Amino acid sequence: MKFATTAIHAGQAADPATGATIVPIYQTSTFTQQAVGVHKGYEYSRSGNPTRAALEECLAKLENGRFGLAFASGLAANMAVLSTLAKGDKIAAVADLYGGTFRIFEKILRPLGIETAYIQGDSDAEIKAALSGAKMLWSESPTNPTMRIVDIARLAKLSKRAGAIFVVDNTFATPVAQKPLDLGADAVVHSTTKYIAGHSDTIGGAAVFNDAEFFEKVKFYQNAAGGAAGAFDSWLVLRGLKTLQIRMERHEKNALKIAEFLQNHPRVEKVNYPGLKNSPQYKLAKKQMSNFGGMISFELRGGAKAAKAAIAKMKIFSLAESLGGVESLVSLPAEMTHASIPRAERLKRGIADGLIRLSVGIEDIDDLLEDLRNALK
Ligand code: PLP
Repeated sequence: MKFATTAIHAGQAADPATGATIVPIYQTSTFTQQAVGVHKGYEYSRSGNPTRAALEECLAKLENGRFGLAFASGLAANMAVLSTLAKGDKIAAVADLYGGTFRIFEKILRPLGIETAYIQGDSDAEIKAALSGAKMLWSESPTNPTMRIVDIARLAKLSKRAGAIFVVDNTFATPVAQKPLDLGADAVVHSTTKYIAGHSDTIGGAAVFNDAEFFEKVKFYQNAAGGAAGAFDSWLVLRGLKTLQIRMERHEKNALKIAEFLQNHPRVEKVNYPGLKNSPQYKLAKKQMSNFGGMISFELRGGAKAAKAAIAKMKIFSLAESLGGVESLVSLPAEMTHASIPRAERLKRGIADGLIRLSVGIEDIDDLLEDLRNALK
């Protein structure tokens, strides 16, 4: 089955109890058993729920993985995967990261004796040094918010050689654009809050695996520590997922036009969008991705002051955290999504005080361009 068909049908056969075409919201905490230990595969919704199971199967198939798990948030998914580490273990992480993931590494794991070495550059030597003694390698691609493209196949090779498990956060790209498991990653994580659900109306996360043992460890944590996705949230994500491919096509189309507009605007200093042909990231992005997505970041001449003035004038782009919904959003990462990273660290990662991040929605492109034209006047 091709992607769009899988998104609509995988794990979503007609309901066996009623014939309902759409997977019902099994809004129940528990399941009645016929006799002690005799049941229809479900006992208690933290350990398993049919609506969540449908989503988990669909997500696994879309990522070309064997096993999927759905969580209450992207960070819950990250934490569950990271729970497979123990005191004394080391993580190597590509430095441009979502601030919340950085906060887990520094504020939760480091005090527990799990340290993270950050990879700032791109040389084999630096990656190998960070990987030395590491149990896990963690990367996003494109990265948030600098839109750096990381060569997933190359990192997978280096990580395998170092004996580390490689986890890719595929939130920005989505499985429409790239499938990290096919490129050699051991697990994929998502904030399904974003493109996968796609309508800014729910919080969710997911992890997908090929290795049964790795999956079982994370599944154990999902049940033992909690943090599984609820039935209604699973249903919302599943509904959003059905239109993922068609939405991504429009996100990309709109984003490319906006990136080109920004690139040619005299007030704009720098644009980060991997789909721009003159972007240093273009060649690698083209090799690895089949859709450049809807995320752009850019800097104006005049830094944070100019950025705040422009943001204040935007009418269609809402000033809000998050991304990946049908509506366009704008944010200032240094003071919003990435505020938990100390300034010096942020600047090292290319997140200037005035860097503006756009999540380009699927509205009419003429209205979006008009909004930006007015804001930059
Ligand atoms: N990973 C990335 C790349 C993100 O951008 C985010 C949130 O912005 C997360 C993970 C965390 O997801 P959630 O907010 O659903 O916990």
